[in-house]
Amino acid sequence: MKIPIDLKTGEVSVESKKEVIVGIDLGTTNSLIAYMNEGNPVTIKSGQGKNAIVPSVIYFNETGGVEVGEVAKSRLLTDSDRTIFSVKRLMGRSYEDVSHLSQMLGYDIIDDKTSPMVKIRVANRFFTPVELSAEILKALKREAEEFLDCPVEKAVITVPAYFNDAQRQATRDAGRLAGLDVLRIVNEPTAASLAYGIGLDRDQHMNIAVYDLGGGTFDISILRLEDGIFDVLSTHGDTTLGGDDFDRCIMNHWLGQLNDKMGNVSTTPGMAQELRLMAESAKKHLSYHAAYEGRINGHPVAITRSEFEELIWPLVQRTVESCQLAIKDSGLKISEIGKVILVGGSTRIPYIKEVLKSLFGLEPDDSMDPDEVVALGAAVQADILAGNRKDILLLDVTPLSLGIETVGGLMDVIIPRNTKVPHRAGRSYTTSVDGQKNLRVSVFQGERDLVADNRKLGEFTLKNIPPMPAGLPKIEVHFVLDADGILTVKASELRSGTVTSVEIRSAYGISEEEMALMLLDSIRHAEEDLRMRALLESKNEANNVILSTERFIQQNSVHLSADEMERLQELKVQLAKASTEDSRDAIESAMKELNDYSSPIAHKMLDININEALKGQKI
Ligand code: ADP
Ligand code: MG
Repeated sequence: MKIPIDLKTGEVSVESKKEVIVGIDLGTTNSLIAYMNEGNPVTIKSGQGKNAIVPSVIYFNETGGVEVGEVAKSRLLTDSDRTIFSVKRLMGRSYEDVSHLSQMLGYDIIDDKTSPMVKIRVANRFFTPVELSAEILKALKREAEEFLDCPVEKAVITVPAYFNDAQRQATRDAGRLAGLDVLRIVNEPTAASLAYGIGLDRDQHMNIAVYDLGGGTFDISILRLEDGIFDVLSTHGDTTLGGDDFDRCIMNHWLGQLNDKMGNVSTTPGMAQELRLMAESAKKHLSYHAAYEGRINGHPVAITRSEFEELIWPLVQRTVESCQLAIKDSGLKISEIGKVILVGGSTRIPYIKEVLKSLFGLEPDDSMDPDEVVALGAAVQADILAGNRKDILLLDVTPLSLGIETVGGLMDVIIPRNTKVPHRAGRSYTTSVDGQKNLRVSVFQGERDLVADNRKLGEFTLKNIPPMPAGLPKIEVHFVLDADGILTVKASELRSGTVTSVEIRSAYGISEEEMALMLLDSIRHAEEDLRMRALLESKNEANNVILSTERFIQQNSVHLSADEMERLQELKVQLAKASTEDSRDAIESAMKELNDYSSPIAHKMLDININEALKGQKI
């Protein structure tokens, strides 16, 4: 036995350097943290409530303080504009991606047109989804540190199998911002099967279906276990389907009931939230009882289990169709699937178990708590990464195809969906014009044939190709997809011998190499770094908005009223002034004010211009 002695003080160092790697299920609705306790994964129960589940809700109080979890959830009713939920749905997404959600969110999401990622406004402060998710992770980290009585610095975080690169990268950044070294981003279904202990016995051979229906997302994965190796054969799902939608079914049902009785009931945001919470309690109640009765503002509302089943039938049917597609993709017959695992709170609904039983022809396994199973599996994965289970190898797959744009806007798939990661693949291209010096490489993700229908991850230009006749240069485009599903793209011109290579990443974040190098530093400086990056982004956006405002004023000077002109100038100057200072919130506020003012005017100008053009045509 070795006893460490501090040479400076001559004291025996009693600090046993135990390293804990935690597993985190960062859910849309609920989050959990788990760790390995003498070979068994256990979730960490929070100090007060002794409940492992932390609602993924963030509340900002009037003095700028932040609260996460149950306390925040209780604010949903009273302070809906300061209480952020479902932030996972916004991770790594643009305003366009999520604008259809703005109605149900109850808080303000911002479209400033120039930024690729959506922002959230709380009073006069502006946040990114990464910053908000980091608040949830910080709360979980704090809880774990208190419980384990040691620093927690390393983590495995799970994401839905359908998360794309930008969403995975955003999750990683949130971890970094919370002061965590994120060792691995793991697909939730992979974690779940690990929690069930599947794969820990080398002689076990079977095919497994993992059905995960949470609050906001649905995933089905078909896994194969062979020789102690997990292999994800296929995945399918829907990032906008979950228990929240069941709540909405009940809400609408009740609104119908109320309207029948009292004519058109107009709902205030507060009342809508109250309805939402009561609908959720009713849904949970119906998992164990045949009927629910309650009161909203003194009016009775009711629903039976069979009514509920009828309401959610079309949604459940969509998950069944996803299951059928996943089975088809896996190349297996249904009868070859030996186990069905249930994940996510919504799988407690008896109707769903019934439907799955008849689809797969076997009783789904619900022996573990469907709320905890993903976090527990993440802890098992953390244990494997810590080197405690060297005999186990994990394979994961990319859920969407990755490729580049070729002539005519066609998608050229380089890594097809359901390819095991890590994976590298390359393809050769050439120029289409004599003496072409530059080649633009645009990277997309998706299953459609036209890139316009897929998701753009980024683009770059391969420069300084030596002048050659068209078709002669040999340009190699290389994709490297790492175990986290994060993509690096390189391009080089081989024939000339001068290898130019450029790397691009998903639209979000910095490169993996930089990440590794700067890891320690970045965790230490995460908060100021990210604040600075966000500030610079806001300054850039402000500049763009100023330029386009100037252009707008110039182009429409004939039609703008003196008042409009003056106000636009004023708001522009105000923004210019804000952007010279170091407050992102001030810049965002000024930008919002300008956008809010100019948008209707821009529409008006467009109408005028169209009308003029039409008149012009008639003459
Ligand atoms: P997520 O993975 O999205 O964070 P969870 O797996 O924690 O979600 O599941 C949360 C969802 O499960 C919520 O919509 C919640 O209402 C639902 N849920 C929890 N318990 C039950 C129950 N007993 N019956 C029906 N739905 C439930
Ligand atoms: Mg979940």
